[in-house]
Amino acid sequence: MEKAKYEWGEGVFTLLSWFKKDKVKNARVLVAGAGALGNEVVKDLALFGIGHIFVVDFDQIELSNLTRSVLFREEDAYSHAYKAEIVAKRAMEINPQIKVTPIVGNLFSEVGFGIYRSVDVVIGCLDSRIARYLLNRLCMRAGKSWVDGSIENLTGTVRVYTPGVSCYECGLSREEFNNIMLRTGCADVVRNQSSAGRVATTPISASIIGAMQVQEAMKIIHQEDDNGKFKTLQGKMLRYEGMTNSMNIYKFASWKHNCPAHEKWENIIDGKNLSATMKVRELFSELKTLLGVKALEINMRNNKFIDKIVSDNPEKEYEVMLPESKLDDYINSNAELRKLSYRTLFHKSYFEIIESDFPYQELSLQELGIPLYDVIEVPTDKGLFYVELSGDAQLYA
Ligand SMILES: [Zn+2]
Repeated sequence: MEKAKYEWGEGVFTLLSWFKKDKVKNARVLVAGAGALGNEVVKDLALFGIGHIFVVDFDQIELSNLTRSVLFREEDAYSHAYKAEIVAKRAMEINPQIKVTPIVGNLFSEVGFGIYRSVDVVIGCLDSRIARYLLNRLCMRAGKSWVDGSIENLTGTVRVYTPGVSCYECGLSREEFNNIMLRTGCADVVRNQSSAGRVATTPISASIIGAMQVQEAMKIIHQEDDNGKFKTLQGKMLRYEGMTNSMNIYKFASWKHNCPAHEKWENIIDGKNLSATMKVRELFSELKTLLGVKALEINMRNNKFIDKIVSDNPEKEYEVMLPESKLDDYINSNAELRKLSYRTLFHKSYFEIIESDFPYQELSLQELGIPLYDVIEVPTDKGLFYVELSGDAQLYA
């Protein structure tokens, strides 16, 4: 039987006069984390018909996730499927008229900054402070609001951070900040942290908090035609207590002077012919033409390229040739290195600045640890430039 033509949300949007169908259809939302909260958030975004959702998570599904993750099935745990990929697939089953792009990787070093710049709002469904700290840096850098959700037992909180109003880093205590600093030496910390720092949660708090996050995100998407209709949580914290059925809103705005997170990248140059798939050598020559400069280098802000590691005891050198974000996987997948890692230290030989005499000119930017559609920081003889690898944009259109 032929199916009737149906446009998603027809009835809903005529009833809900404050949300506009076209706005929602054209909206782009990035969801960081595809655990219990991420499942709820993506499900609601899909039901609303948000046109393009990006889901970022590096983790694989385990049986223990099934009790609070509406989009996961038992077979996904047995096949060790990636959370981001399953969330994307199931959300598009719920609503075939939207696009959901999964990104398997960590939100800091493996998501192109162009994606952060291209979205209307970011929703944080994270379970560690360090991941929030890193996501906040990226959102402030891109000038985007982000809606943070957190759940523990029967309680949960929602906070909205907006550049110029409130910042996650500004709200950290000295002790929390020092704790994060101790662990940010390595690009892989996000991975270690998130898989270790599990808290007890219920499917109820995940659905309540996830739903509130999506509602806040919808308000941000409609901010321009708001006219004071919406009471948003920008600069505020909502706290829900399941034990007592109470919900309170606290003022939470914190925007300090001289906070390093407020570094906004502006005047970004559109590198239409540039892609992270290009070789270093090709990129240098294209950049010289594009920027009209003679000398340049590339600062890797979110990752490092490791060419080798040296073990302490016994002293031995291992060729790696990978981004730092892949180093843990590399060590864990090599039996000799894995054994060694329990009893010796590895010293890394790495590059965080790519200069014109970089010895591995035939490697691509991706191989160095610069993701597709990223924005690169380029110091030159004529000053500092930020250049977007816009040639990759069509992959995320
Ligand atoms: Zn700040």
